[in-house]
Amino acid sequence: MTDLEIVRVPAFDDNYIWLVHDPASNETLVVDPGDAAPALAAAKERGWTITQIWNTHWHPDHVGGNQAVKDATGALVTGPAAEAAKIPTLDRTVAEGDTMKLGAHVARVLDTPAHTAGHISYVFDQDGLLFPGDTIFAMGCGRLFEGTAADMYAAMRKYAALPPETRVFAAHEYTQSNGRYALVAEPDNEAIKARMVEVDRLRAAGEATLPTTIGEELATNPFLRASSPEELGERRGAKDVFRG
Ligand code: ZN
Ligand code: FE
Repeated sequence: MTDLEIVRVPAFDDNYIWLVHDPASNETLVVDPGDAAPALAAAKERGWTITQIWNTHWHPDHVGGNQAVKDATGALVTGPAAEAAKIPTLDRTVAEGDTMKLGAHVARVLDTPAHTAGHISYVFDQDGLLFPGDTIFAMGCGRLFEGTAADMYAAMRKYAALPPETRVFAAHEYTQSNGRYALVAEPDNEAIKARMVEVDRLRAAGEATLPTTIGEELATNPFLRASSPEELGERRGAKDVFRG
């Protein structure tokens, strides 16, 4: 268990910006503030001041609010070293092997390129929290814009090695469409069928389906479950054109 308080902030059509507050240090982190206004409002509502911004990759729906959050709060911005040229608001650049701190809580940086060439993820091992940006989603994975299926397969192996109870704070509400494809990719997987009943219920009620957990994904995510880079690539290609 963790004493970090985590808030899901919806943005744009289907993004989630995550706020992480450490009551001990009074630090507040925002992961991938594509839009500053909802992130700042959610923090203010709770009496929190954002002290850090962590970016996973350069896409505008993840970094677009960096400057405005920085201007409003003086927060320090950290992001992927390999994408520094594309994220001019960065104060600090990191890559695998580096560690981040939120108060006394430590997060490791993982290199998880595939969706973009320098994409990173942040994992708080002691707290059991993973912030994977657009690399893994509930029952899905990111599109391969700048990397290969082999890159994505390697990223999935890093995630699969985390404890199953690790909570996964993915950046988009894509679960229902991912699940419709997952049912086709693995028609005999009872765990996917059962999960989709719950996902359909939540979405019909207008509720979020995230965070997920590594354990749930090991049971239901056709990309995490792919047995080879080739199988992952076939599934990614099929999902790209899937109209469920
Ligand atoms: Zn993206
Ligand atoms: Fe995104």
